[in-house]
Amino acid sequence: MSDGEIRNVISPACDDAEYVREVAQAKRALELWTMEPDFQEAFLAAPEETLAAHGLSVDALSVKVLCDHETALAYKDKPPAAWPRAALRYRGFLREKIMSRERMAREDCVPKHPAFRAWRLRQRNRCWAELGKRNESLIHVPLAFELDLGCSVGCPFCGVMAGKLQKVCRYDETAALWKGVLTITREIIGDAAGQATCYYATEPLDNPDYEKFADDFFDVFGIAPQITTAAAMRKPERTKNYLAETLRTYRRVHRFSVLSLDILHRIFETFTPEELLCVELLPQFAEAPNNRFASAGRARKNKAVRVESQEDGNTISCISGFIVNMAEKSVRLVTPCGASEACPTGEILLAKETFSDAGDFRRLLVSLIDRYMMAEFPKDQPLWLRPGISLEKTAEGIAFFRAKTLRLKFLATDDLSPALYHDVLDKLRAGGKSAYDIAGELMEETGAFPAHVLFILKKFEQAGLLLEPYETPGPSSS
Ligand code: SF4
Repeated sequence: MSDGEIRNVISPACDDAEYVREVAQAKRALELWTMEPDFQEAFLAAPEETLAAHGLSVDALSVKVLCDHETALAYKDKPPAAWPRAALRYRGFLREKIMSRERMAREDCVPKHPAFRAWRLRQRNRCWAELGKRNESLIHVPLAFELDLGCSVGCPFCGVMAGKLQKVCRYDETAALWKGVLTITREIIGDAAGQATCYYATEPLDNPDYEKFADDFFDVFGIAPQITTAAAMRKPERTKNYLAETLRTYRRVHRFSVLSLDILHRIFETFTPEELLCVELLPQFAEAPNNRFASAGRARKNKAVRVESQEDGNTISCISGFIVNMAEKSVRLVTPCGASEACPTGEILLAKETFSDAGDFRRLLVSLIDRYMMAEFPKDQPLWLRPGISLEKTAEGIAFFRAKTLRLKFLATDDLSPALYHDVLDKLRAGGKSAYDIAGELMEETGAFPAHVLFILKKFEQAGLLLEPYETPGPSSS
């Protein structure tokens, strides 16, 4: 059983090769369980032999605890000391990844620009009410780069509906502009710009100069950009070298989209479990037992694609900010939403404009921030509740939710009574009244302190429950 010591294996400080080997082998066993069609049956019939046949020496009980539902339930409430060591260490590795994602959403992706910061927070909070727990996996990164126009892979499930590959941005022709753009994003957005990826509706390895672009990115931010590639096996040596190089200087989790069983087999043949410790394999082929797609983009309409749910309201978009396309010199301002007929890719496109050089890029970024992002709404601005979100008066204050998503609450305090929350909600439901209007009316009608009313309105605003000034009022919320 376990010695109970858990280490951070993604950290470069972890030099315990035996520990890493054990976690990497448990990870490989899990990948076999979730992606290799015959593995589950073979493992349950002959655990040790099946693991050995795949070159794994991790103990079979650990694999059962991690993969088999009944065994996982039996161990769920047992103390760590009772867990088999590899399972416990793998669980620690999962926790390390989850903590890292949460830190990105909560801290690392927060722009230094006050208006951008406040706008991103409102979008992130809006998504709790609109997307529910799905929002847990969205880091709302403020920036992404695309080095090409379109994508050569053409996945039938593509959640962002990437078009055909039309143009590739070559490094030698763009280096000066690229370095300028990186520096400007760092100046305006701050360190959070370093959380950007150098792909979005593109395949990073479509670009023959990806490594050079990524090197410059590292020079500016001290961070190697995260890569998700569906073309890992197009040139295996290139992928292997890039991973080895980038993980040597900066350890983080990357991803391979696995598009077929044959590609999975080739990945397993090419990379040892240790080499893939920091690479998540995403099963994206029909035979994989756990393969499901978010119903967004092409997956929404493609009947041949197995989706998590047929209903609208899903997304894979995790950007609340700018997508800078270097091939067409354009900037898009986007934020996630549930995919629908109006927004099939699960993102709201607020603006798309082009730039000609670094100076123009700076002007464009500043102008988009000025036009769309407010640190706070002006107090004389007409306020409208966001449509589609249900708000309910409760004995403690106000609850709000969208059907089948999380239910969130504003709780009254000694100073701010439930009745005051209810009064403010009634005024907001009337629609089109400003913060000053509401504070003035409630002072006259109930004697409420304007400061208390403005405080409650600020909470509504920060929770993303009020339409942004650039949004058009529609049918109000219930
Ligand atoms: S999912 Fe990724 S690789 Fe596949 S078409 Fe879309 S952008 Fe390209």
